[in-house]
Amino acid sequence: MQAAKHTTSKTQYFLEKEEQYGAHNYHPLPVVLTKGKGVFVWDVDDRRYYDFLSGYSAINQGHCHPRIIETFIEQAQRLTLTSRAFHNDVLGEYEEYITKFFGYDKVLPMNTGVEAVETGLKLARRWGYEVKGVPHNKGKIITCEHNFHGRTISVISFSSDEGSKKDFGPFTPGFEVIPYNDIAALQAALQDSNVVGFLVEPIQGEAGVVVPDEGYLAKAAAMCKEANVLFIADEIQTGLARTGKMLACDHEDVRPDILLLGKALSGGTMPVSAVLADDEIMLTIKPGDHGSTYGGNPIACKVAITALQVLKDEKMAHNSEVQGAHLRKELKALGHEHISIVRGKGLFNAIVIEHPKKDTAWDICIAMKKNGLLAKPTHGDRIRFAPPLLITRPQIDECIEIIRKSMDNF
Ligand code: PLP
Repeated sequence: MQAAKHTTSKTQYFLEKEEQYGAHNYHPLPVVLTKGKGVFVWDVDDRRYYDFLSGYSAINQGHCHPRIIETFIEQAQRLTLTSRAFHNDVLGEYEEYITKFFGYDKVLPMNTGVEAVETGLKLARRWGYEVKGVPHNKGKIITCEHNFHGRTISVISFSSDEGSKKDFGPFTPGFEVIPYNDIAALQAALQDSNVVGFLVEPIQGEAGVVVPDEGYLAKAAAMCKEANVLFIADEIQTGLARTGKMLACDHEDVRPDILLLGKALSGGTMPVSAVLADDEIMLTIKPGDHGSTYGGNPIACKVAITALQVLKDEKMAHNSEVQGAHLRKELKALGHEHISIVRGKGLFNAIVIEHPKKDTAWDICIAMKKNGLLAKPTHGDRIRFAPPLLITRPQIDECIEIIRKSMDNF
């Protein structure tokens, strides 16, 4: 195993268990975590690390945020699940809270991010047939190259990552993939009157924090409106204060027709996702048309209220903006010959490594791990830097020093 030379026997014990009994669908860094608090996680040998991935931005509020955990425990001791066959005394309160928080008529609660995406796609198609008047089964949804929206068969149907698709076909029809950050391509695709929706990440996270040109989102949203096409924003990774605003779309004053949220909606405690839209769209789905056993369960509802309130009370969007700008400035100031690009918004950042050796980004992550910082490469040469949003300036400075030291050998 590649991990072996970096690990203790205790760590090795857990790595071997996963290797033997778990499906090999991930390639994690060889570190076994047992505890988290705020911006830090600890491994089984009690070594402390800065978490610069934050559970792919599910842990914006920091690990084990006391208010979120307290809410979780309180509700878990009272009522955990009713299914939607019965009402409960928490769901309506949550629905009111989140719809007012984001300014929509209705919310549809789900669990994982990809379920929110699937729900958004269904809603767009349903709206297309029942409101826009697109001929049956002709609805088309425009998506972008290098997107990441999850792993179901329909969602990978419009992925441009061959590894995610290989031997998983046949795929779901009804999607057109256009280049990201390309207004002319969108304009051309919108000529088809059967288009019902445009699904887009305001910043492409898994692609390596690819930030589109300023004005792209606003222009795209305006063009969709003009063409009577729903603008569907996947803010599952960019949302909830990660980029320095509550939503990444807020940077351009864009209000999506369908808003998809997940990840940090539970502060990293459980899968909670949500789809927000106005009545004209949401009420096209009738009882029995769509749902999920755990969607809108009482723990999820309570936890999501606290998770959102914590972001607001602790002004995490502001901190993300300030510390993110500082982080990028300091990363650029390193002037490291193998960092070809530093990019991002708020505390959603990535560096692109340019090095003749293919595995350098991985090796840098291993070196950073040794020095007390956890980050993970994506697409081979990109490393995301996305710490929890409560990180302080002195902590950022300490992390810059770790990054500098770790990269010195490359
Ligand atoms: N959409 C975006 C933008 C994501 O980044 C992700 C996950 O990384 C998803 C959807 C899928 O979320 P989940 O893994 O919870 O299904």
